[in-house]
Amino acid sequence: YGDFNQKIDYVFKVVLIGDSAVGKSQLLARFARNEFSLDSKATIGVEFQTKTLVIDHKTVKAQIWDTAGQERYRAVTSAYYRGAVGAMLVYDMTKRQSFDHMARWLEELRGHADKNIVIMLIGNKCDLGSLRAVPTEDAQEFAERENLCFMETSALEATNVESAFLTVLTEIYRIMS
Ligand code: GDP
Ligand code: MG
Repeated sequence: YGDFNQKIDYVFKVVLIGDSAVGKSQLLARFARNEFSLDSKATIGVEFQTKTLVIDHKTVKAQIWDTAGQERYRAVTSAYYRGAVGAMLVYDMTKRQSFDHMARWLEELRGHADKNIVIMLIGNKCDLGSLRAVPTEDAQEFAERENLCFMETSALEATNVESAFLTVLTEIYRIMS
């Protein structure tokens, strides 16, 4: 209902990618609806959610796409990436493997997406600090080498979620306008 009678200046498609269970759907639920669920079912059906916000006096509609359980390598179709101007590359900071897979997700992304796409690396579940398996410096180093923005988030505690999406959307806006 928030979009009613609103003039939209820009629509930005942003895709979420990363291994299964890293928290992609909950990051989206937190950002789009300020909701979180601990027993989230595997994502079915819903392709994207939108959130309308104002950046620099312009109305920007963010259309955030969530993988519908297609997280297996190479299972995400090119339609998913088509038209994306932003990407959130998400790992679970308590699961080393999900971070080690970032390189191949990035390769997939770069193979399909526009070359000017804005990419944010996200280490999610920072509320589980005692179970940390990925040092911040490792992720920072990877992000710098690959020219990505980087943040650690918690969808559960709402830490940095808004900030991560806003950073990406503002950077996209800066490039597009
Ligand atoms: P997806 O497969 O990447 O979409 O992952 P989900 O969003 O479905 O989340 C997988 C599991 O991790 C669910 O049980 C979530 O409740 C949980 N989860 C997601 N984000 C967080 C977080 O920030 N902190 C904690 N502790 N659990 C989370
Ligand atoms: Mg999901």
